Amino acid sequence: MRSIRYGEADRILHLYSKSRGRIGAIAKGARKPKSRFGGRLEPFFRLDLVLHEGRSDLMTVTSAATVDGYPRLRGSGAALTAGARACDAFLRLLDSAEPNPPAYNLLCRYLSLLDDPAENAAELSTALAFRLKLALVAGFAPELASCAHCGEAEQLVGFSGAAGGVVCGGCEAGAFPLSEEAHRFMVESLAKSLSEAPEAEPQALRQAERAVGETLEHHAHVQLRAAA
Ligand SMILES: [Zn+2]
Repeated sequence: MRSIRYGEADRILHLYSKSRGRIGAIAKGARKPKSRFGGRLEPFFRLDLVLHEGRSDLMTVTSAATVDGYPRLRGSGAALTAGARACDAFLRLLDSAEPNPPAYNLLCRYLSLLDDPAENAAELSTALAFRLKLALVAGFAPELASCAHCGEAEQLVGFSGAAGGVVCGGCEAGAFPLSEEAHRFMVESLAKSLSEAPEAEPQALRQAERAVGETLEHHAHVQLRAAA
């Protein structure tokens, strides 16, 4: 997820693993020209790592093999930006050593889509669909089926981050208006796979971004950077 130069020739790595969640590791000598790690200890590499767990908080990388380097993602400015924002949101929301395989799989899926030029996955709509799914796998999906205050299923006209979902006309104090299109975008984003992320008008996308952002702020105590 992140790779930081350290000392003369080392790298400190922020890793996310399928089996152990967040891991901090050091790769000694990784910046030497003839390092056995090559250039693969960088963000957006999916790796098969052997790590040594000592007494330090940091594990030591013993070996690293590339599972997927997403080379076309690396060649596209838009895909790199989208990937960086996705990883940033991911790190803010999934900050523990608890494994979360659905979150891991979601990020791999998004990076694969960003690596496929035919998918247009760097678009804001897919970035927001990723964000909604990320909120879901982290346990903070907004309530979208009925009013988060009173349970009313009709006349859902607003969204309240504090309530954690859509709200009806009678409960909209403190909420912001949510269009039908933004509501539909969020429901479909969660229901469909990432490659089938729905489209929506810019205003609806802005509302959806605000909805997921305020939900995470209130309930996960995490502030995300702008999605685009
Ligand atoms: Zn209500």
